[in-house]
Amino acid sequence: MTYPFRFRKFAPRTYVIQGAGADAYLLEGDREAIMIDAGCSTENIRAFAQSITELPVRRVINTHSHFDHTGGNGYFDVIYGTEGIARSGKNVMGGDPASFPLDYTYTLVRDGEVLPFEGRPLEILVLDSHSPESIAILDRTQRLLFPGDEIESGQVLLLPGYAEEPGQIHAKPPATVETFLRAMDKINGYRDAFDAICPAHNGTPIDPSYVDWFISLAQGILEGSIIGSTDCAGPGYDASAAHFPLPDAHYRRASYKGATLVYCDRMVVDADYAYAGDLPPATRLHIQSAATARR
Ligand SMILES: [Zn+2]
Repeated sequence: MTYPFRFRKFAPRTYVIQGAGADAYLLEGDREAIMIDAGCSTENIRAFAQSITELPVRRVINTHSHFDHTGGNGYFDVIYGTEGIARSGKNVMGGDPASFPLDYTYTLVRDGEVLPFEGRPLEILVLDSHSPESIAILDRTQRLLFPGDEIESGQVLLLPGYAEEPGQIHAKPPATVETFLRAMDKINGYRDAFDAICPAHNGTPIDPSYVDWFISLAQGILEGSIIGSTDCAGPGYDASAAHFPLPDAHYRRASYKGATLVYCDRMVVDADYAYAGDLPPATRLHIQSAATARR
């Protein structure tokens, strides 16, 4: 069997699996191995992970509900996610639902919960910024933080939540820059517990100083000292991407050192949530995914 995936070991007992959607991670504990995110290949990512490790691979944790992270969920016996993740984790986002195993149920996790995983407990930190009720996973044993798409070296996107019910264009408005800053402050509170960040896109691992940079960036936008460009394109992200902001969606791209944020300029401070109902569709993918919501 040949798989579309490839893997790389970058820390003791820790592998990144790439090649089909977002980067996924395989973590070995004492008696079993667990995955963080499941990619979105139509091939069996669990079987591929099982070819890497001698330990049984049964469980997966989703960092958030986007289908490039959840598409392979149905290959696993246990799928963890927050309630917000469970609400849209099966939205194939305009893809073909028949191509993916979607007959599974979520095991719900909450903020602060520590997943039982012998030899390597994993702590759930709800961030709720890039995507509704997204999480970061803190691995104090290997001193790694897995933030999903909430921190990465390409660009962090503050887009609305994808459909949770058929016909819905935006399940939840995009997070404000103020909300994003709170998420970064929260991660910063655990700074003495990790030495590297393992994002799901654009390279892994990256240095914890990205947290400082994202905090400075968000503060700069909130204070008005940093004003983003209306050209939201960057490396690997341009108007051809279905999740690129539409011209009238009021999006901007701003950077500070290595940190880049793509945010809605109508959603900067939390008071802006009052006007979120007036926002037009954010991306083509939001329009497409309105048709493929399911629970
Ligand atoms: Zn995402």
